[in-house]
Amino acid sequence: MNIILLGAPASGKGTMSNFLKQTYDIPAISTGDIIRENIKNKTSLGIKSQEYINAGVLVPDEIVIDLIRARLGQSDTANGYILDGFPRTLSQAVALDKISNITKVIYLNVGYNTLLERSLSRRICPKCNAIYNTKTHKSDFCDECDTKLVTRDDDNETVLKKRFDEFQSETKPLIAYYKKCNKLIEVDGSGDSFEVFKKISKEL
Ligand code: AMP
Repeated sequence: MNIILLGAPASGKGTMSNFLKQTYDIPAISTGDIIRENIKNKTSLGIKSQEYINAGVLVPDEIVIDLIRARLGQSDTANGYILDGFPRTLSQAVALDKISNITKVIYLNVGYNTLLERSLSRRICPKCNAIYNTKTHKSDFCDECDTKLVTRDDDNETVLKKRFDEFQSETKPLIAYYKKCNKLIEVDGSGDSFEVFKKISKEL
């Protein structure tokens, strides 16, 4: 099963992608995580992407398409995969159709105020990429690997607004694209994460 998670920034793609990974035992591939890892390691991809990511704008299509082509060519994706944060533009979706066959696309529909609240309270583990929320997780350390949690550089109100606007103009057209080929599952993603995952599981 090849699944895409589509949604605005902080809509819960990362959290749902982890639940799906555990349930179906297939890799969860986050372009954002891969880019952040490259920035941390100062690779040429990281250096090229840093200014885009910090400004809250999309990294150029050719960079992310090459990255995904290479990742999907790895053997662990043979039984399926979950894409979190890719595609984000129509040309990325068209390129992906040439690389692989998508089974279902889950669109997490969440309103702006909830996105803002989630973005400002999100913390991530810089070592294993686990995602937490200060409202439900009181410790400053990762449950999985005991590393000190950090705030993402792009989790602030100014950058979130920019990313949200870009989602509306660049990524939302993908909803019609995947609806047309009967692949779209739309889920209200605003509630408790376990409840949202129950809805997704029922649909799948
Ligand atoms: P995310 O972790 O999915 O919220 O992504 C964080 C940032 O990484 C985005 O705001 C973009 O700057 C960049 N990024 C991640 N995925 C993509 C993509 N598919 N296309 C372009 N930029 C991306």
